[in-house]
Amino acid sequence: MTIEMDKIVSLCKRRGIIFQNSEIYGGIGNTWDYGPLGVELKRNVKEAWWKSAVYERDDMEGLDAAILMNPAAWEASGHLESFTDPLVDCKKCKHRFRFDDLDGEVCPDCGGELTESRSFNLMFKTFVGPVEDSASVTYLRPETAQGIFVNFVNVQQMMRRKIPFGIAQIGKSFRNEITPGNFTFRTREFEQMEIEFFVKPGTDEEWYQRWVDERFRWYLDLGINKENLRLRDHESTELAHYAKSCVDIEYLFPMGWCELEGIANRSDFDLRQHAEHSRKDLSYFDEAAKEKYIPYVIEPSAGADRATLAFLIDAYREEKVKGDKRVVLALQHRLAPIKVAVLPLLRNRPDIVEAARSIAADLRTRYKAVYDDTASIGRLYRRQDEIGTPYCVTVDVQSLDDRQVTVRERDSMRQVRVPIEGVVEYLTDCLNRGELVDLTG
Ligand SMILES: [Zn+2]
Repeated sequence: MTIEMDKIVSLCKRRGIIFQNSEIYGGIGNTWDYGPLGVELKRNVKEAWWKSAVYERDDMEGLDAAILMNPAAWEASGHLESFTDPLVDCKKCKHRFRFDDLDGEVCPDCGGELTESRSFNLMFKTFVGPVEDSASVTYLRPETAQGIFVNFVNVQQMMRRKIPFGIAQIGKSFRNEITPGNFTFRTREFEQMEIEFFVKPGTDEEWYQRWVDERFRWYLDLGINKENLRLRDHESTELAHYAKSCVDIEYLFPMGWCELEGIANRSDFDLRQHAEHSRKDLSYFDEAAKEKYIPYVIEPSAGADRATLAFLIDAYREEKVKGDKRVVLALQHRLAPIKVAVLPLLRNRPDIVEAARSIAADLRTRYKAVYDDTASIGRLYRRQDEIGTPYCVTVDVQSLDDRQVTVRERDSMRQVRVPIEGVVEYLTDCLNRGELVDLTG
């Protein structure tokens, strides 16, 4: 099924997943806010990444470096000099274009004459301290990677790490893109999930392949359809001068195949550059082999916003149920913003409401669960389906007699009666297994 981006944008607004930033002021170009459900979804994506990148491995450390860095770091990394886009201006209507986006020699908007192309740095410039002079200039980081490289020796020595090992980080980055767009796919402020994995030169190609496989599998494990995911090797002309090899994991977005994540073999370029510019020794001494070298780096670099968008699009379903359209977000349980919704069949019956509230309170000690009585049961189910809630629990009149409730599963809409006593453990079991557990079986 192909889904138009408009449907996703509309669902996100309607259900409190993603809002336009500063909407009451007319917004600001390509800047978005994650609403109450979006923040949960994105947190779940980041947590799934952190779990697989850090907790499940014994060769990884975490880091949370600052957004601001000594500007010398950006000189060493090459960002000051070459992190640029070639731009041209229209002399008539003053519109600005990326040179690469242009087909002809005249302005695509008005046919006016264009200026020569000039390079424009994509880093956001700012000032540290009260004086706005050249000595106080710094930048909002355009990638989280450099914060990792400058901490390589700190982490390696303080954590007593031996090569190979990696450092993982999640954080905001900023790029003053000229042509952002496609909802949250390309924005000027975005969140990265990056790993720098340090290896012995000569073992780099093997580690590169291992990381490509590992990262590709991560998306599949979290429920992305295999047909919507592919690898695309960079041509030699696309490769950065320091990169030995690079591959993109691409997802089939509504606008076509686009990059979700890049995995690069960056050789020893970064550590070598920082060693040279800082005049600090950033090499590694292998005690066993009595060998000293600058490690090579394999970099899996993913976008948290892009991944979140891909999971949303991939989970979107429209179905016909008894002649009505049903929209479902078939998100994997661990990504779902809300795990369980507890719904009273009659909201004017205090005993039913009390039983439902008590179950919801119990569930909330474990994960995100809600109590909702703001509409009829049919509408409440539809709302939970649209935001991907795996299970709904309904308390009805009969529940007061037989001490049982109805548990409804999102995708199959199958319902089972479950004793109130133990219902929290039952739901937790279903969530862990990713399916409705049959009590009779
Ligand atoms: Zn023009």
